[in-house]
Amino acid sequence: MQNNQALDLEEALQRLKSQLTPVTGTESVPLNQLMGRCLAEAVNAPGNLPPFPASAMDGYAIRKNDWPHLRTYELVGTSLAGHPYNGPELTEGQAVRVFTGAAVPHGADQILLQEEVVPGGGSANQVTFTEHTPAERYVRPVGHDVKAGTRLLPPATQLHALQVGLLSANGVTAATCHRRLKVGVFSTGDELVEPGQPLGTGQIYDSNRLTLLHLLADDCFERVDLGRLPDDAATVERELANAADECDALLSSGGVSVGDADFVTRTIERLGTLNFWKLNLKPGKPLAYGTLNNGQCQIFGLPGNPVSTVVTFLMIAKPALLHMAGASVSDPVRVPATLTSDVSHAPGRTEFQRGWVHPTPQGLAVSHTGDQSSNRLSTFAQANCLIEVPKMAGNLRPGTSVDVVLFDNLF
Ligand code: AMP
Ligand code: MG
Repeated sequence: MQNNQALDLEEALQRLKSQLTPVTGTESVPLNQLMGRCLAEAVNAPGNLPPFPASAMDGYAIRKNDWPHLRTYELVGTSLAGHPYNGPELTEGQAVRVFTGAAVPHGADQILLQEEVVPGGGSANQVTFTEHTPAERYVRPVGHDVKAGTRLLPPATQLHALQVGLLSANGVTAATCHRRLKVGVFSTGDELVEPGQPLGTGQIYDSNRLTLLHLLADDCFERVDLGRLPDDAATVERELANAADECDALLSSGGVSVGDADFVTRTIERLGTLNFWKLNLKPGKPLAYGTLNNGQCQIFGLPGNPVSTVVTFLMIAKPALLHMAGASVSDPVRVPATLTSDVSHAPGRTEFQRGWVHPTPQGLAVSHTGDQSSNRLSTFAQANCLIEVPKMAGNLRPGTSVDVVLFDNLF
C-alpha cells in the first residue's frame, strides 16, 4: 500500500516503533562477547560488591570507638589487597596497616590515614596519630556498590564498555540476550563500480554499501553484504526476494525516488507492502519502508545520494533496527550551540546540515562544513555533528542558537 503523504521525522519514527517488534529468540552470551548485545532479560547481582568490608584509603584500621581518646596504637599486622590480615579480631588499642582495596580486619571499622601518622611517634610496633582525622571512616561496607540480588541492568539494555565492566565486577559470566538481528545491505545502480576497479564513462564508485556496513558495526547486528544490484527489475525482484528469506531486515540505497530507474520502491510494492516513501526531511526526502516475506523481513530503501543515505540511516533506520534488535532506543540528545556561519534553509522540511561544533569560552559554537549538496561526502567527512534546522526556520544568521546532534550520539 503506498502512502503519498509526506511524513515528519517524529511521525515516521513513531510509526516504525509501533509496527516493529524486537526479534524473538534469545541466547546465553558469554561475558567476553557481550559488548554491543541487547539484554533480553534483566541481570541481577549474584553477590555483594564489594564482597567484604574494604578500605577506601591507605592507612591504619582501628576500632572507631578507640578514636579519639586513644592516639597511639599497637601495630599487629598488615592487610594488603588480595592478602587479608588473618589474625584475631582487633581489640582496644590495636591497629592493622591497610591499603586501598584491602579487607578491613574483623573488629575494625575506621581507617586512620597514613598522612595523619605523627612522624617518629611511638616505637617500631606502635603508630601515633595527629588530631586531624576527619569524621569519614574510609570503610566501604559489604554491598557498598551493589547489593546481592539487586538489579544490575534492566532488559533491553544495549551493553557497552561500562555495562560489561559492571557485569565483570559482579562476577557475571553470561547474560541472556536477543539473538543478533540479521541485516543485509545492498546498493543499487548501473553506474556503481567496486572501489579498486577501473571506472568507465559515467561510472562512480559505490560508497554507500561500505559506509552502511560500517555504521552497522554494533554486535547486536549480524551484517550480510549483499553486493550491488543492477537497475533491472527482474534482478532486483529476484535478489530482494532471496535476501528477504534470509534476513530480518534489509537496507538498500538508491532506486527509491520517482524516476525511470527506481526499481526498489516498485519491487517492494510488488513483493510485499510499502508503508511510506516521502519524508519532510532534508537530505533524505524519499525513503521506502516496507515489509517482505509475509512481514518477516523489514526493508528500508534509503535514498541513493550518499549524504541522504547516511542521514536517513542514522535518524530513522538505525533507531528502528536497534529497536528490532531488542534495545531500548531514545532520541539522540540535542545540545544547543551558537551558529558562527550563515545557514540557508528553505522552509518546509526539517534539515540536518553537516556541522563542526567546538567549545569556546562562551559555550558551544557551530558552523556548517561547506556546501550541503546531498552528494557531497567531503563536507560530511569534515563534520562532527548534524545541525538541526527546524522545518519552518528559513535562513539563519550567525549568533542564532541551534540544536546539534553530536556524531558521538549517533554512531
Ligand atoms: P538514485 O536514488 O538511485 O537515483 O541515486 C541518487 C544518486 O545517488 C545518484 O547520483 C547515484 O549515482 C548516487 N548513488 C546511488 N547509490 C550510490 C552508492 N551506493 N554509492 C554512491 N553513490 C550512489
Ligand atoms: Mg540509482
